[in-house]
Amino acid sequence: MTITGENFVAGERRGSAGTWHAHAAASGEPFGEAFAAAGAGDVADACAAAASAQPVYAALPLSERAAFLRLVAEKIDELGATLTQRAMKETGLPEARLNGERGRTVGQLRLFADEVENGAWQQLRIDHADPARTPPKPDLRLRMVPLGPVAVFGASNFPLAFSVAGGDTASAFAAGCCVVVKGHPAHPGTSELVAGAITEAVAEAGLPGGVFSLLGGTEHTLGETLVTDPRIAAVGFTGSRGGGLALMRHAAARAVPIPVYAEMSSVNPVTLMPARLEEAAEDLARAYVGSLSLGAGQFCTNPGIVLAVESDALTRFLIAAKDALADVGGQTMLTTGIHKAYTEGAERLAARSGAELVGLGGEAPGTCGRAQVYSVSADAFLADEDFEEEVFGPASIVVRCADLDQVAAVLSGMEGQLTTTLHMAEADHEAAAALLPVLEKLAGRIIANGWPTGVDVTHAMVHGGPFPATSDGRTTSVGTLAIERFLRPVSYQDMPEALLPGALHDGASGTLRRIDGTYET
Ligand code: NAP
Repeated sequence: MTITGENFVAGERRGSAGTWHAHAAASGEPFGEAFAAAGAGDVADACAAAASAQPVYAALPLSERAAFLRLVAEKIDELGATLTQRAMKETGLPEARLNGERGRTVGQLRLFADEVENGAWQQLRIDHADPARTPPKPDLRLRMVPLGPVAVFGASNFPLAFSVAGGDTASAFAAGCCVVVKGHPAHPGTSELVAGAITEAVAEAGLPGGVFSLLGGTEHTLGETLVTDPRIAAVGFTGSRGGGLALMRHAAARAVPIPVYAEMSSVNPVTLMPARLEEAAEDLARAYVGSLSLGAGQFCTNPGIVLAVESDALTRFLIAAKDALADVGGQTMLTTGIHKAYTEGAERLAARSGAELVGLGGEAPGTCGRAQVYSVSADAFLADEDFEEEVFGPASIVVRCADLDQVAAVLSGMEGQLTTTLHMAEADHEAAAALLPVLEKLAGRIIANGWPTGVDVTHAMVHGGPFPATSDGRTTSVGTLAIERFLRPVSYQDMPEALLPGALHDGASGTLRRIDGTYET
């Protein structure tokens, strides 16, 4: 597939007069073909096409919807090395990581295909009528229906798994929603290749072109225009807190406000319980630095804050972390903008009152990020809320607490998080149990004896959390539960069976249903 720099509007390539370029992550230099910036007319056409395709796509038998998702996966697989090579140049991420991410992306599409066929997400419920009751009880039948066209904002840090055909798109398609993607300007060629694969799948499946569009550009007005288009029914976003908040404001100010599922900032506090720290300080330190520096620290689940009680074991941990950091070389960051934001954020962190340098990674030339760890007393941490600011990259801070009560006080005062972690030995279990209610309030995922980087795509995964980790902590952007973001319930009262969806007929079988309060298949 050739990269032309055009947008995809409802199955057609559009906008050959390119005005902006991809930049090589390693040098920051522009390269290759010029990309066309989508204008207001392109947004309007993509949204109109999505609105007209929406009833057709939503009415597709679930087996055909699942087959479409599997076809998208197959088309992305077929892009092979072309996709990996392009993504490497645009993002600076290594080949093995991107091949793994492609596997995750197609695996996610196939998992959602299975989920569509399973059908339990429809939440089918039947409450039979009881005319003898006073007052008479009506016949009520419920199922979930798609919200309508979804605007998806791809993330910079996962150019495949959280981008054009990433989790937001896969879950929206699975829910029966058409998708208009606003491509991330940091990887336009990668986005175009994937959009080409989806567009081919749409055509091959015989679906209307409006099921999918990709719009690219470098001005915020493009995203604003998309979110405020009256035909868009929901938004999926992964990126900065500022970007997510801006889109939430636009969505709330519409004549008809719509939900924005934004995944924004998280520092993922990790607590080292005393007995575990005592028995494994050095191993924990090495694993911490490994998790922190993975992918140049550009993970939303990066361990940005570690908490532990002051002790000799904590001193051992800090010394071992310093040693481990010395072996971490600088790694190319995703964009010059992210590199600049990281460098400035790390400088602010280093300059905060009470911050003490623990250790630095090796020199980081050009657009590479230098790993760094600081420590601070819990008193100083509690006195300056800016210690909690996400520094997107391989920087982290260890909070030295007087005792476990102070650990609990620090965790209780923190903003919402995607994850929080407990490292504990059996001797720590009683104290850990006392912390659990604090952790449940704090984060969407509580990890025991692991590190937060690494998010499995499964049925029980939660990649979400209270604000500002996400705009809506009631849901997740990873895993099959993500489908619920793009659905809403409809109840049919006393509806003649001939007019009811087949899955709500009395005799229908094969899908989990709740009939008069009891679950049945
Ligand atoms: P970003 O600047 O928020 O951009 C994400 C997407 O939103 C882009 O398509 C961007 O396109 C659009 N956008 C941003 N601000 C907007 C606004 N005010 N109105 C309309 N659209 C807007 O995120 P990024 O480029 O990926 O990285 C920047 C920072 O985000 C990082 O330094 C990091 O702090 C954070 N980040 C966090 C995560 C996470 O998972 N927590 C992941 C990635 C990045 P345009 O700029 O073209 O409008």
